[in-house]
Amino acid sequence: MKLKLDDHFWQELPADPLQTNQRRQVLQAAYSFVVPRKPTAPRLLHVSEEVAEMIGLRQDDILGDEFVETFSGGCVPVGARPYAMCYGGHQFGSWAGQLGDGRAINLCEVEHLGKRWTLQLKGAGETPYSRSADGLAVLRSSLREHLCSEAMFHLGVPTTRALSLIATGDDVMRDMMYDGNAAFEPGAVVCRVAPSFIRFGNFQIFAANGEVENLRRLANYTILHYFPNITINPDHVTGQTGAYVQFFREVSRRTLEMVIHWQRVGFVHGVMNTDNMSIHGETIDFGPYGWLEGYDHDWTPNTTDRQHRRYRYGHQPQIALWNLLQLANALYPLVNDATPFEEELKDYQTQFEVEYRQMMGSKIGLTMVTRADDGLIANLERTLQLTETDMTIFFRLLANVTQSGSSEAMPDALATVADAFYVAGPLPEEVTSAWQDWFREYQCRLCQTNQSDADRAAAMNAINPKYVLRNYMAQLAIDKATAGDNALTDQLYQLLKRPYDEQPENEQWFAKRPEWARNKVGCSMLSCSS
Ligand code: AMP
Ligand code: MG
Repeated sequence: MKLKLDDHFWQELPADPLQTNQRRQVLQAAYSFVVPRKPTAPRLLHVSEEVAEMIGLRQDDILGDEFVETFSGGCVPVGARPYAMCYGGHQFGSWAGQLGDGRAINLCEVEHLGKRWTLQLKGAGETPYSRSADGLAVLRSSLREHLCSEAMFHLGVPTTRALSLIATGDDVMRDMMYDGNAAFEPGAVVCRVAPSFIRFGNFQIFAANGEVENLRRLANYTILHYFPNITINPDHVTGQTGAYVQFFREVSRRTLEMVIHWQRVGFVHGVMNTDNMSIHGETIDFGPYGWLEGYDHDWTPNTTDRQHRRYRYGHQPQIALWNLLQLANALYPLVNDATPFEEELKDYQTQFEVEYRQMMGSKIGLTMVTRADDGLIANLERTLQLTETDMTIFFRLLANVTQSGSSEAMPDALATVADAFYVAGPLPEEVTSAWQDWFREYQCRLCQTNQSDADRAAAMNAINPKYVLRNYMAQLAIDKATAGDNALTDQLYQLLKRPYDEQPENEQWFAKRPEWARNKVGCSMLSCSS
């Protein structure tokens, strides 16, 4: 197996001089060198062949023992020097101090076809940042991360990727619902792939520790390697404030784009702490995430956040802004002027309004959307929440509604989307009447466009997914994989590679969440325990 190593992070940024895994506060360093843990009996459960190809591996590389050894942490590629990054973060709104890669180990950076990728093992053992935990990950959370990162990519959502899911053969003790019922679970390692795993928190920790020189080095490094449109001289200490502001603008723009995509597909991250925000605007750290089934702005899958629902679906865009404010605070010592940051943050809000309107407009098939459509969109959001309505199914069926409304050949609009409602039997009268009002307004609006029903349906179906990784689907795959059967994992992986396509053979997955999954742990309720 030949990986073309191209390490920069550990070569160009300051290292922690200590090289043990002992937990500690790390100062004046961007990372600590660590040795991944050797798993007892690694076994490949799934591989994303696309990602393998992306990083320069061939089909026969995947089949060999070396692949499993390397991506489970058992064997470090020659020349690589694995390390855990030091970062801090705001968790649930409060500054948490040093966090760092407690169970993630950057294996190496590789180059392929002019692109550079960082390969990171999640669950490969302790690091100086493991605090009171073990550095391991269990199969259920690893499988969820592996499948979801690939599903997100194919939905067109910026995300870290997943190369492989490997069972370690070791048992890991977890108290899944934090209720005193700890039990052993199978352990696993996912190899994640991204341009880099630099987070908002990497900048925050230097700012919090008053290490301005390191902050500058990290900013210069990040800009130089990952933001080629920004001019920076890594050796200059002054005179580059414009570059840092531009960098912040670019991160804001990418973060906004990412979160708009989340809203479009109904993804709820669940733990939008600043240590879980990628500087690339990619979705990162798939923990207790979930997918909206019933469209509900207040929904969060994360039981740890049940009380305040800080990270609920409808709040994600505002939280991203709050997180950007924390990044601005961290970068401030490089600029010493708050005004340009404030302007960028204001810009986020203005831009959010425009892009959200555009996105919602396109979900209902409007190509030219203006402020005049805000009422129609707001009414839709309100009506969708009157009774439990499946988001994915609703928007998919909405594409079948015609401009002219009901005729002899066409059922009325409400009947067209009826399968999206969770209530058995007829809708309450006030809900029916709210929908009829909305459809009247909607069809009237459609008549002002000059798009045919067929063209509009095709455009809608290209952005409203038919298949998403519903919470219960991931759980079914976990149950099977735990019993030694990986077929469903691969079946879902294949299904979710083409989320916008009609797949008649997979119609069973275009269905509302079954009742048994409504309140089942792992399906709609997830904790941070992973
Ligand atoms: P998360 O909520 O998963 O983003 O994790 C927050 C912090 O806790 C990060 O620094 C993680 O690396 C660390 N962490 C989470 N789970 C573990 C674990 N099992 N072992 C060590 N560190 C962990
Ligand atoms: Mg994290």
